[in-house]
Amino acid sequence: MKTELLLKEIHERYRSFNEGKLANYIPELAKVNPNLFAISIVTTDGEVFEAGDSQQLFTMQSSSKPFTYAMALSAFGRDKVREKVGVEPTGTSFNSIVEIEANTHRPYNPMVNAGAITISSMLSPEKSLEKRREEMLKFFGSFAGHELSIDETIYQSERSTAFRNRSIANLLRHFQVINGEIDGSLDLYFSQCSIQVNTRDLATMAATLANGGVHPSKYKVIDRDTVSDVLSIMLSCGMYDTAGEWAYQVGFPAKSGVSGCIFGVIPGKMGIAVYSPLINEHGHSVRGVKALQDLSYELKLHIFR
Ligand code: GLN
Repeated sequence: MKTELLLKEIHERYRSFNEGKLANYIPELAKVNPNLFAISIVTTDGEVFEAGDSQQLFTMQSSSKPFTYAMALSAFGRDKVREKVGVEPTGTSFNSIVEIEANTHRPYNPMVNAGAITISSMLSPEKSLEKRREEMLKFFGSFAGHELSIDETIYQSERSTAFRNRSIANLLRHFQVINGEIDGSLDLYFSQCSIQVNTRDLATMAATLANGGVHPSKYKVIDRDTVSDVLSIMLSCGMYDTAGEWAYQVGFPAKSGVSGCIFGVIPGKMGIAVYSPLINEHGHSVRGVKALQDLSYELKLHIFR
C-alpha cells in the first residue's frame, strides 16, 4: 500500500481512540485539544508523507533530550559527557529521583530528567539564558531546516510548577554532578522542553538522525559518531520504563514527550513523528504508540527483522 494511504488509514483507525489523559502537572498542557492527531514521515531524501493535523504546533518536551545530548556530545566528546551522565536504562519513570541517591549519584542516562538537566548544565553555563537559548535554538533549527521558537506560555507554566525537577536539580547540585548555580540550567531545560514544532518538523529532525547527521536537503548537522551514540541511547532508554517492550515490539530508536509527541528514527530510511496529546502512565501518547506499532509492522521497520 502507498505510504500516504497507509498513514491516512492508521490515522482513521485511532482518531477516536480515547484512552489516556492530558499531562496536567504542567497546567498549560492540560488546556490543549485532546482530539488533535497527526502523523508525518520524512524520508532521508526529503520525501514527506502526512496525515491529520500535521501543521499543529506543540512543545517538544522530552523529545528535545536526544538533541541536547547531541549538542553536548558535539561540544565535549563522549568521554567528558559520560563522566557526568551514564548510558544505562533506569527501569523507572522519566522523573524518578531514586537513581541519583543510589551508587554513583551520576544520572543513569540523558533521556530521563536527571540526565537531561545535567546535560543542560553543561551547555555554556557561563553565558546568559538568552545566549544559551539562542545557541540551542540554532542547533535544533539546523535539524529542522528552519528557525524554531519557544512557547513562552508553556515555558512559564512549567517553570512556575517544576517542584520535582527543582528537587532533582538540587540533589544533583548536592552531589556535585552539577557545579555552580542550578537555576539557569533549569531555565534552559524548561526552554528546550518548550521549543515548538509540528510533526513535519520533528520528522525532519528525526530524518536528519536517520541520515547519519546530514539534513535531507544535504547539509551536515552532526558527526555520524554522535548520531550512533544518540540512537543507541534512544533505543535503550528513550521510552523509559517501557524501553524494553518498545525495542521488542516496535524495534527502532524513539523518544516521547508529555505533550503527546513521539519521534522514531529508522536509520538509512526515514524519520517518523506522531502527535496526539492523550498520554499513558509512562508519559507516552496513547494514539502515538498505537500508530507507531502499526507503522513498524506494516512498513517492516523493526531494525532487527
Ligand atoms: N518538561 C517535562 C518534565 O520535565 C518533560 C517530561 C517528558 O516529556 N517526559 O517533566
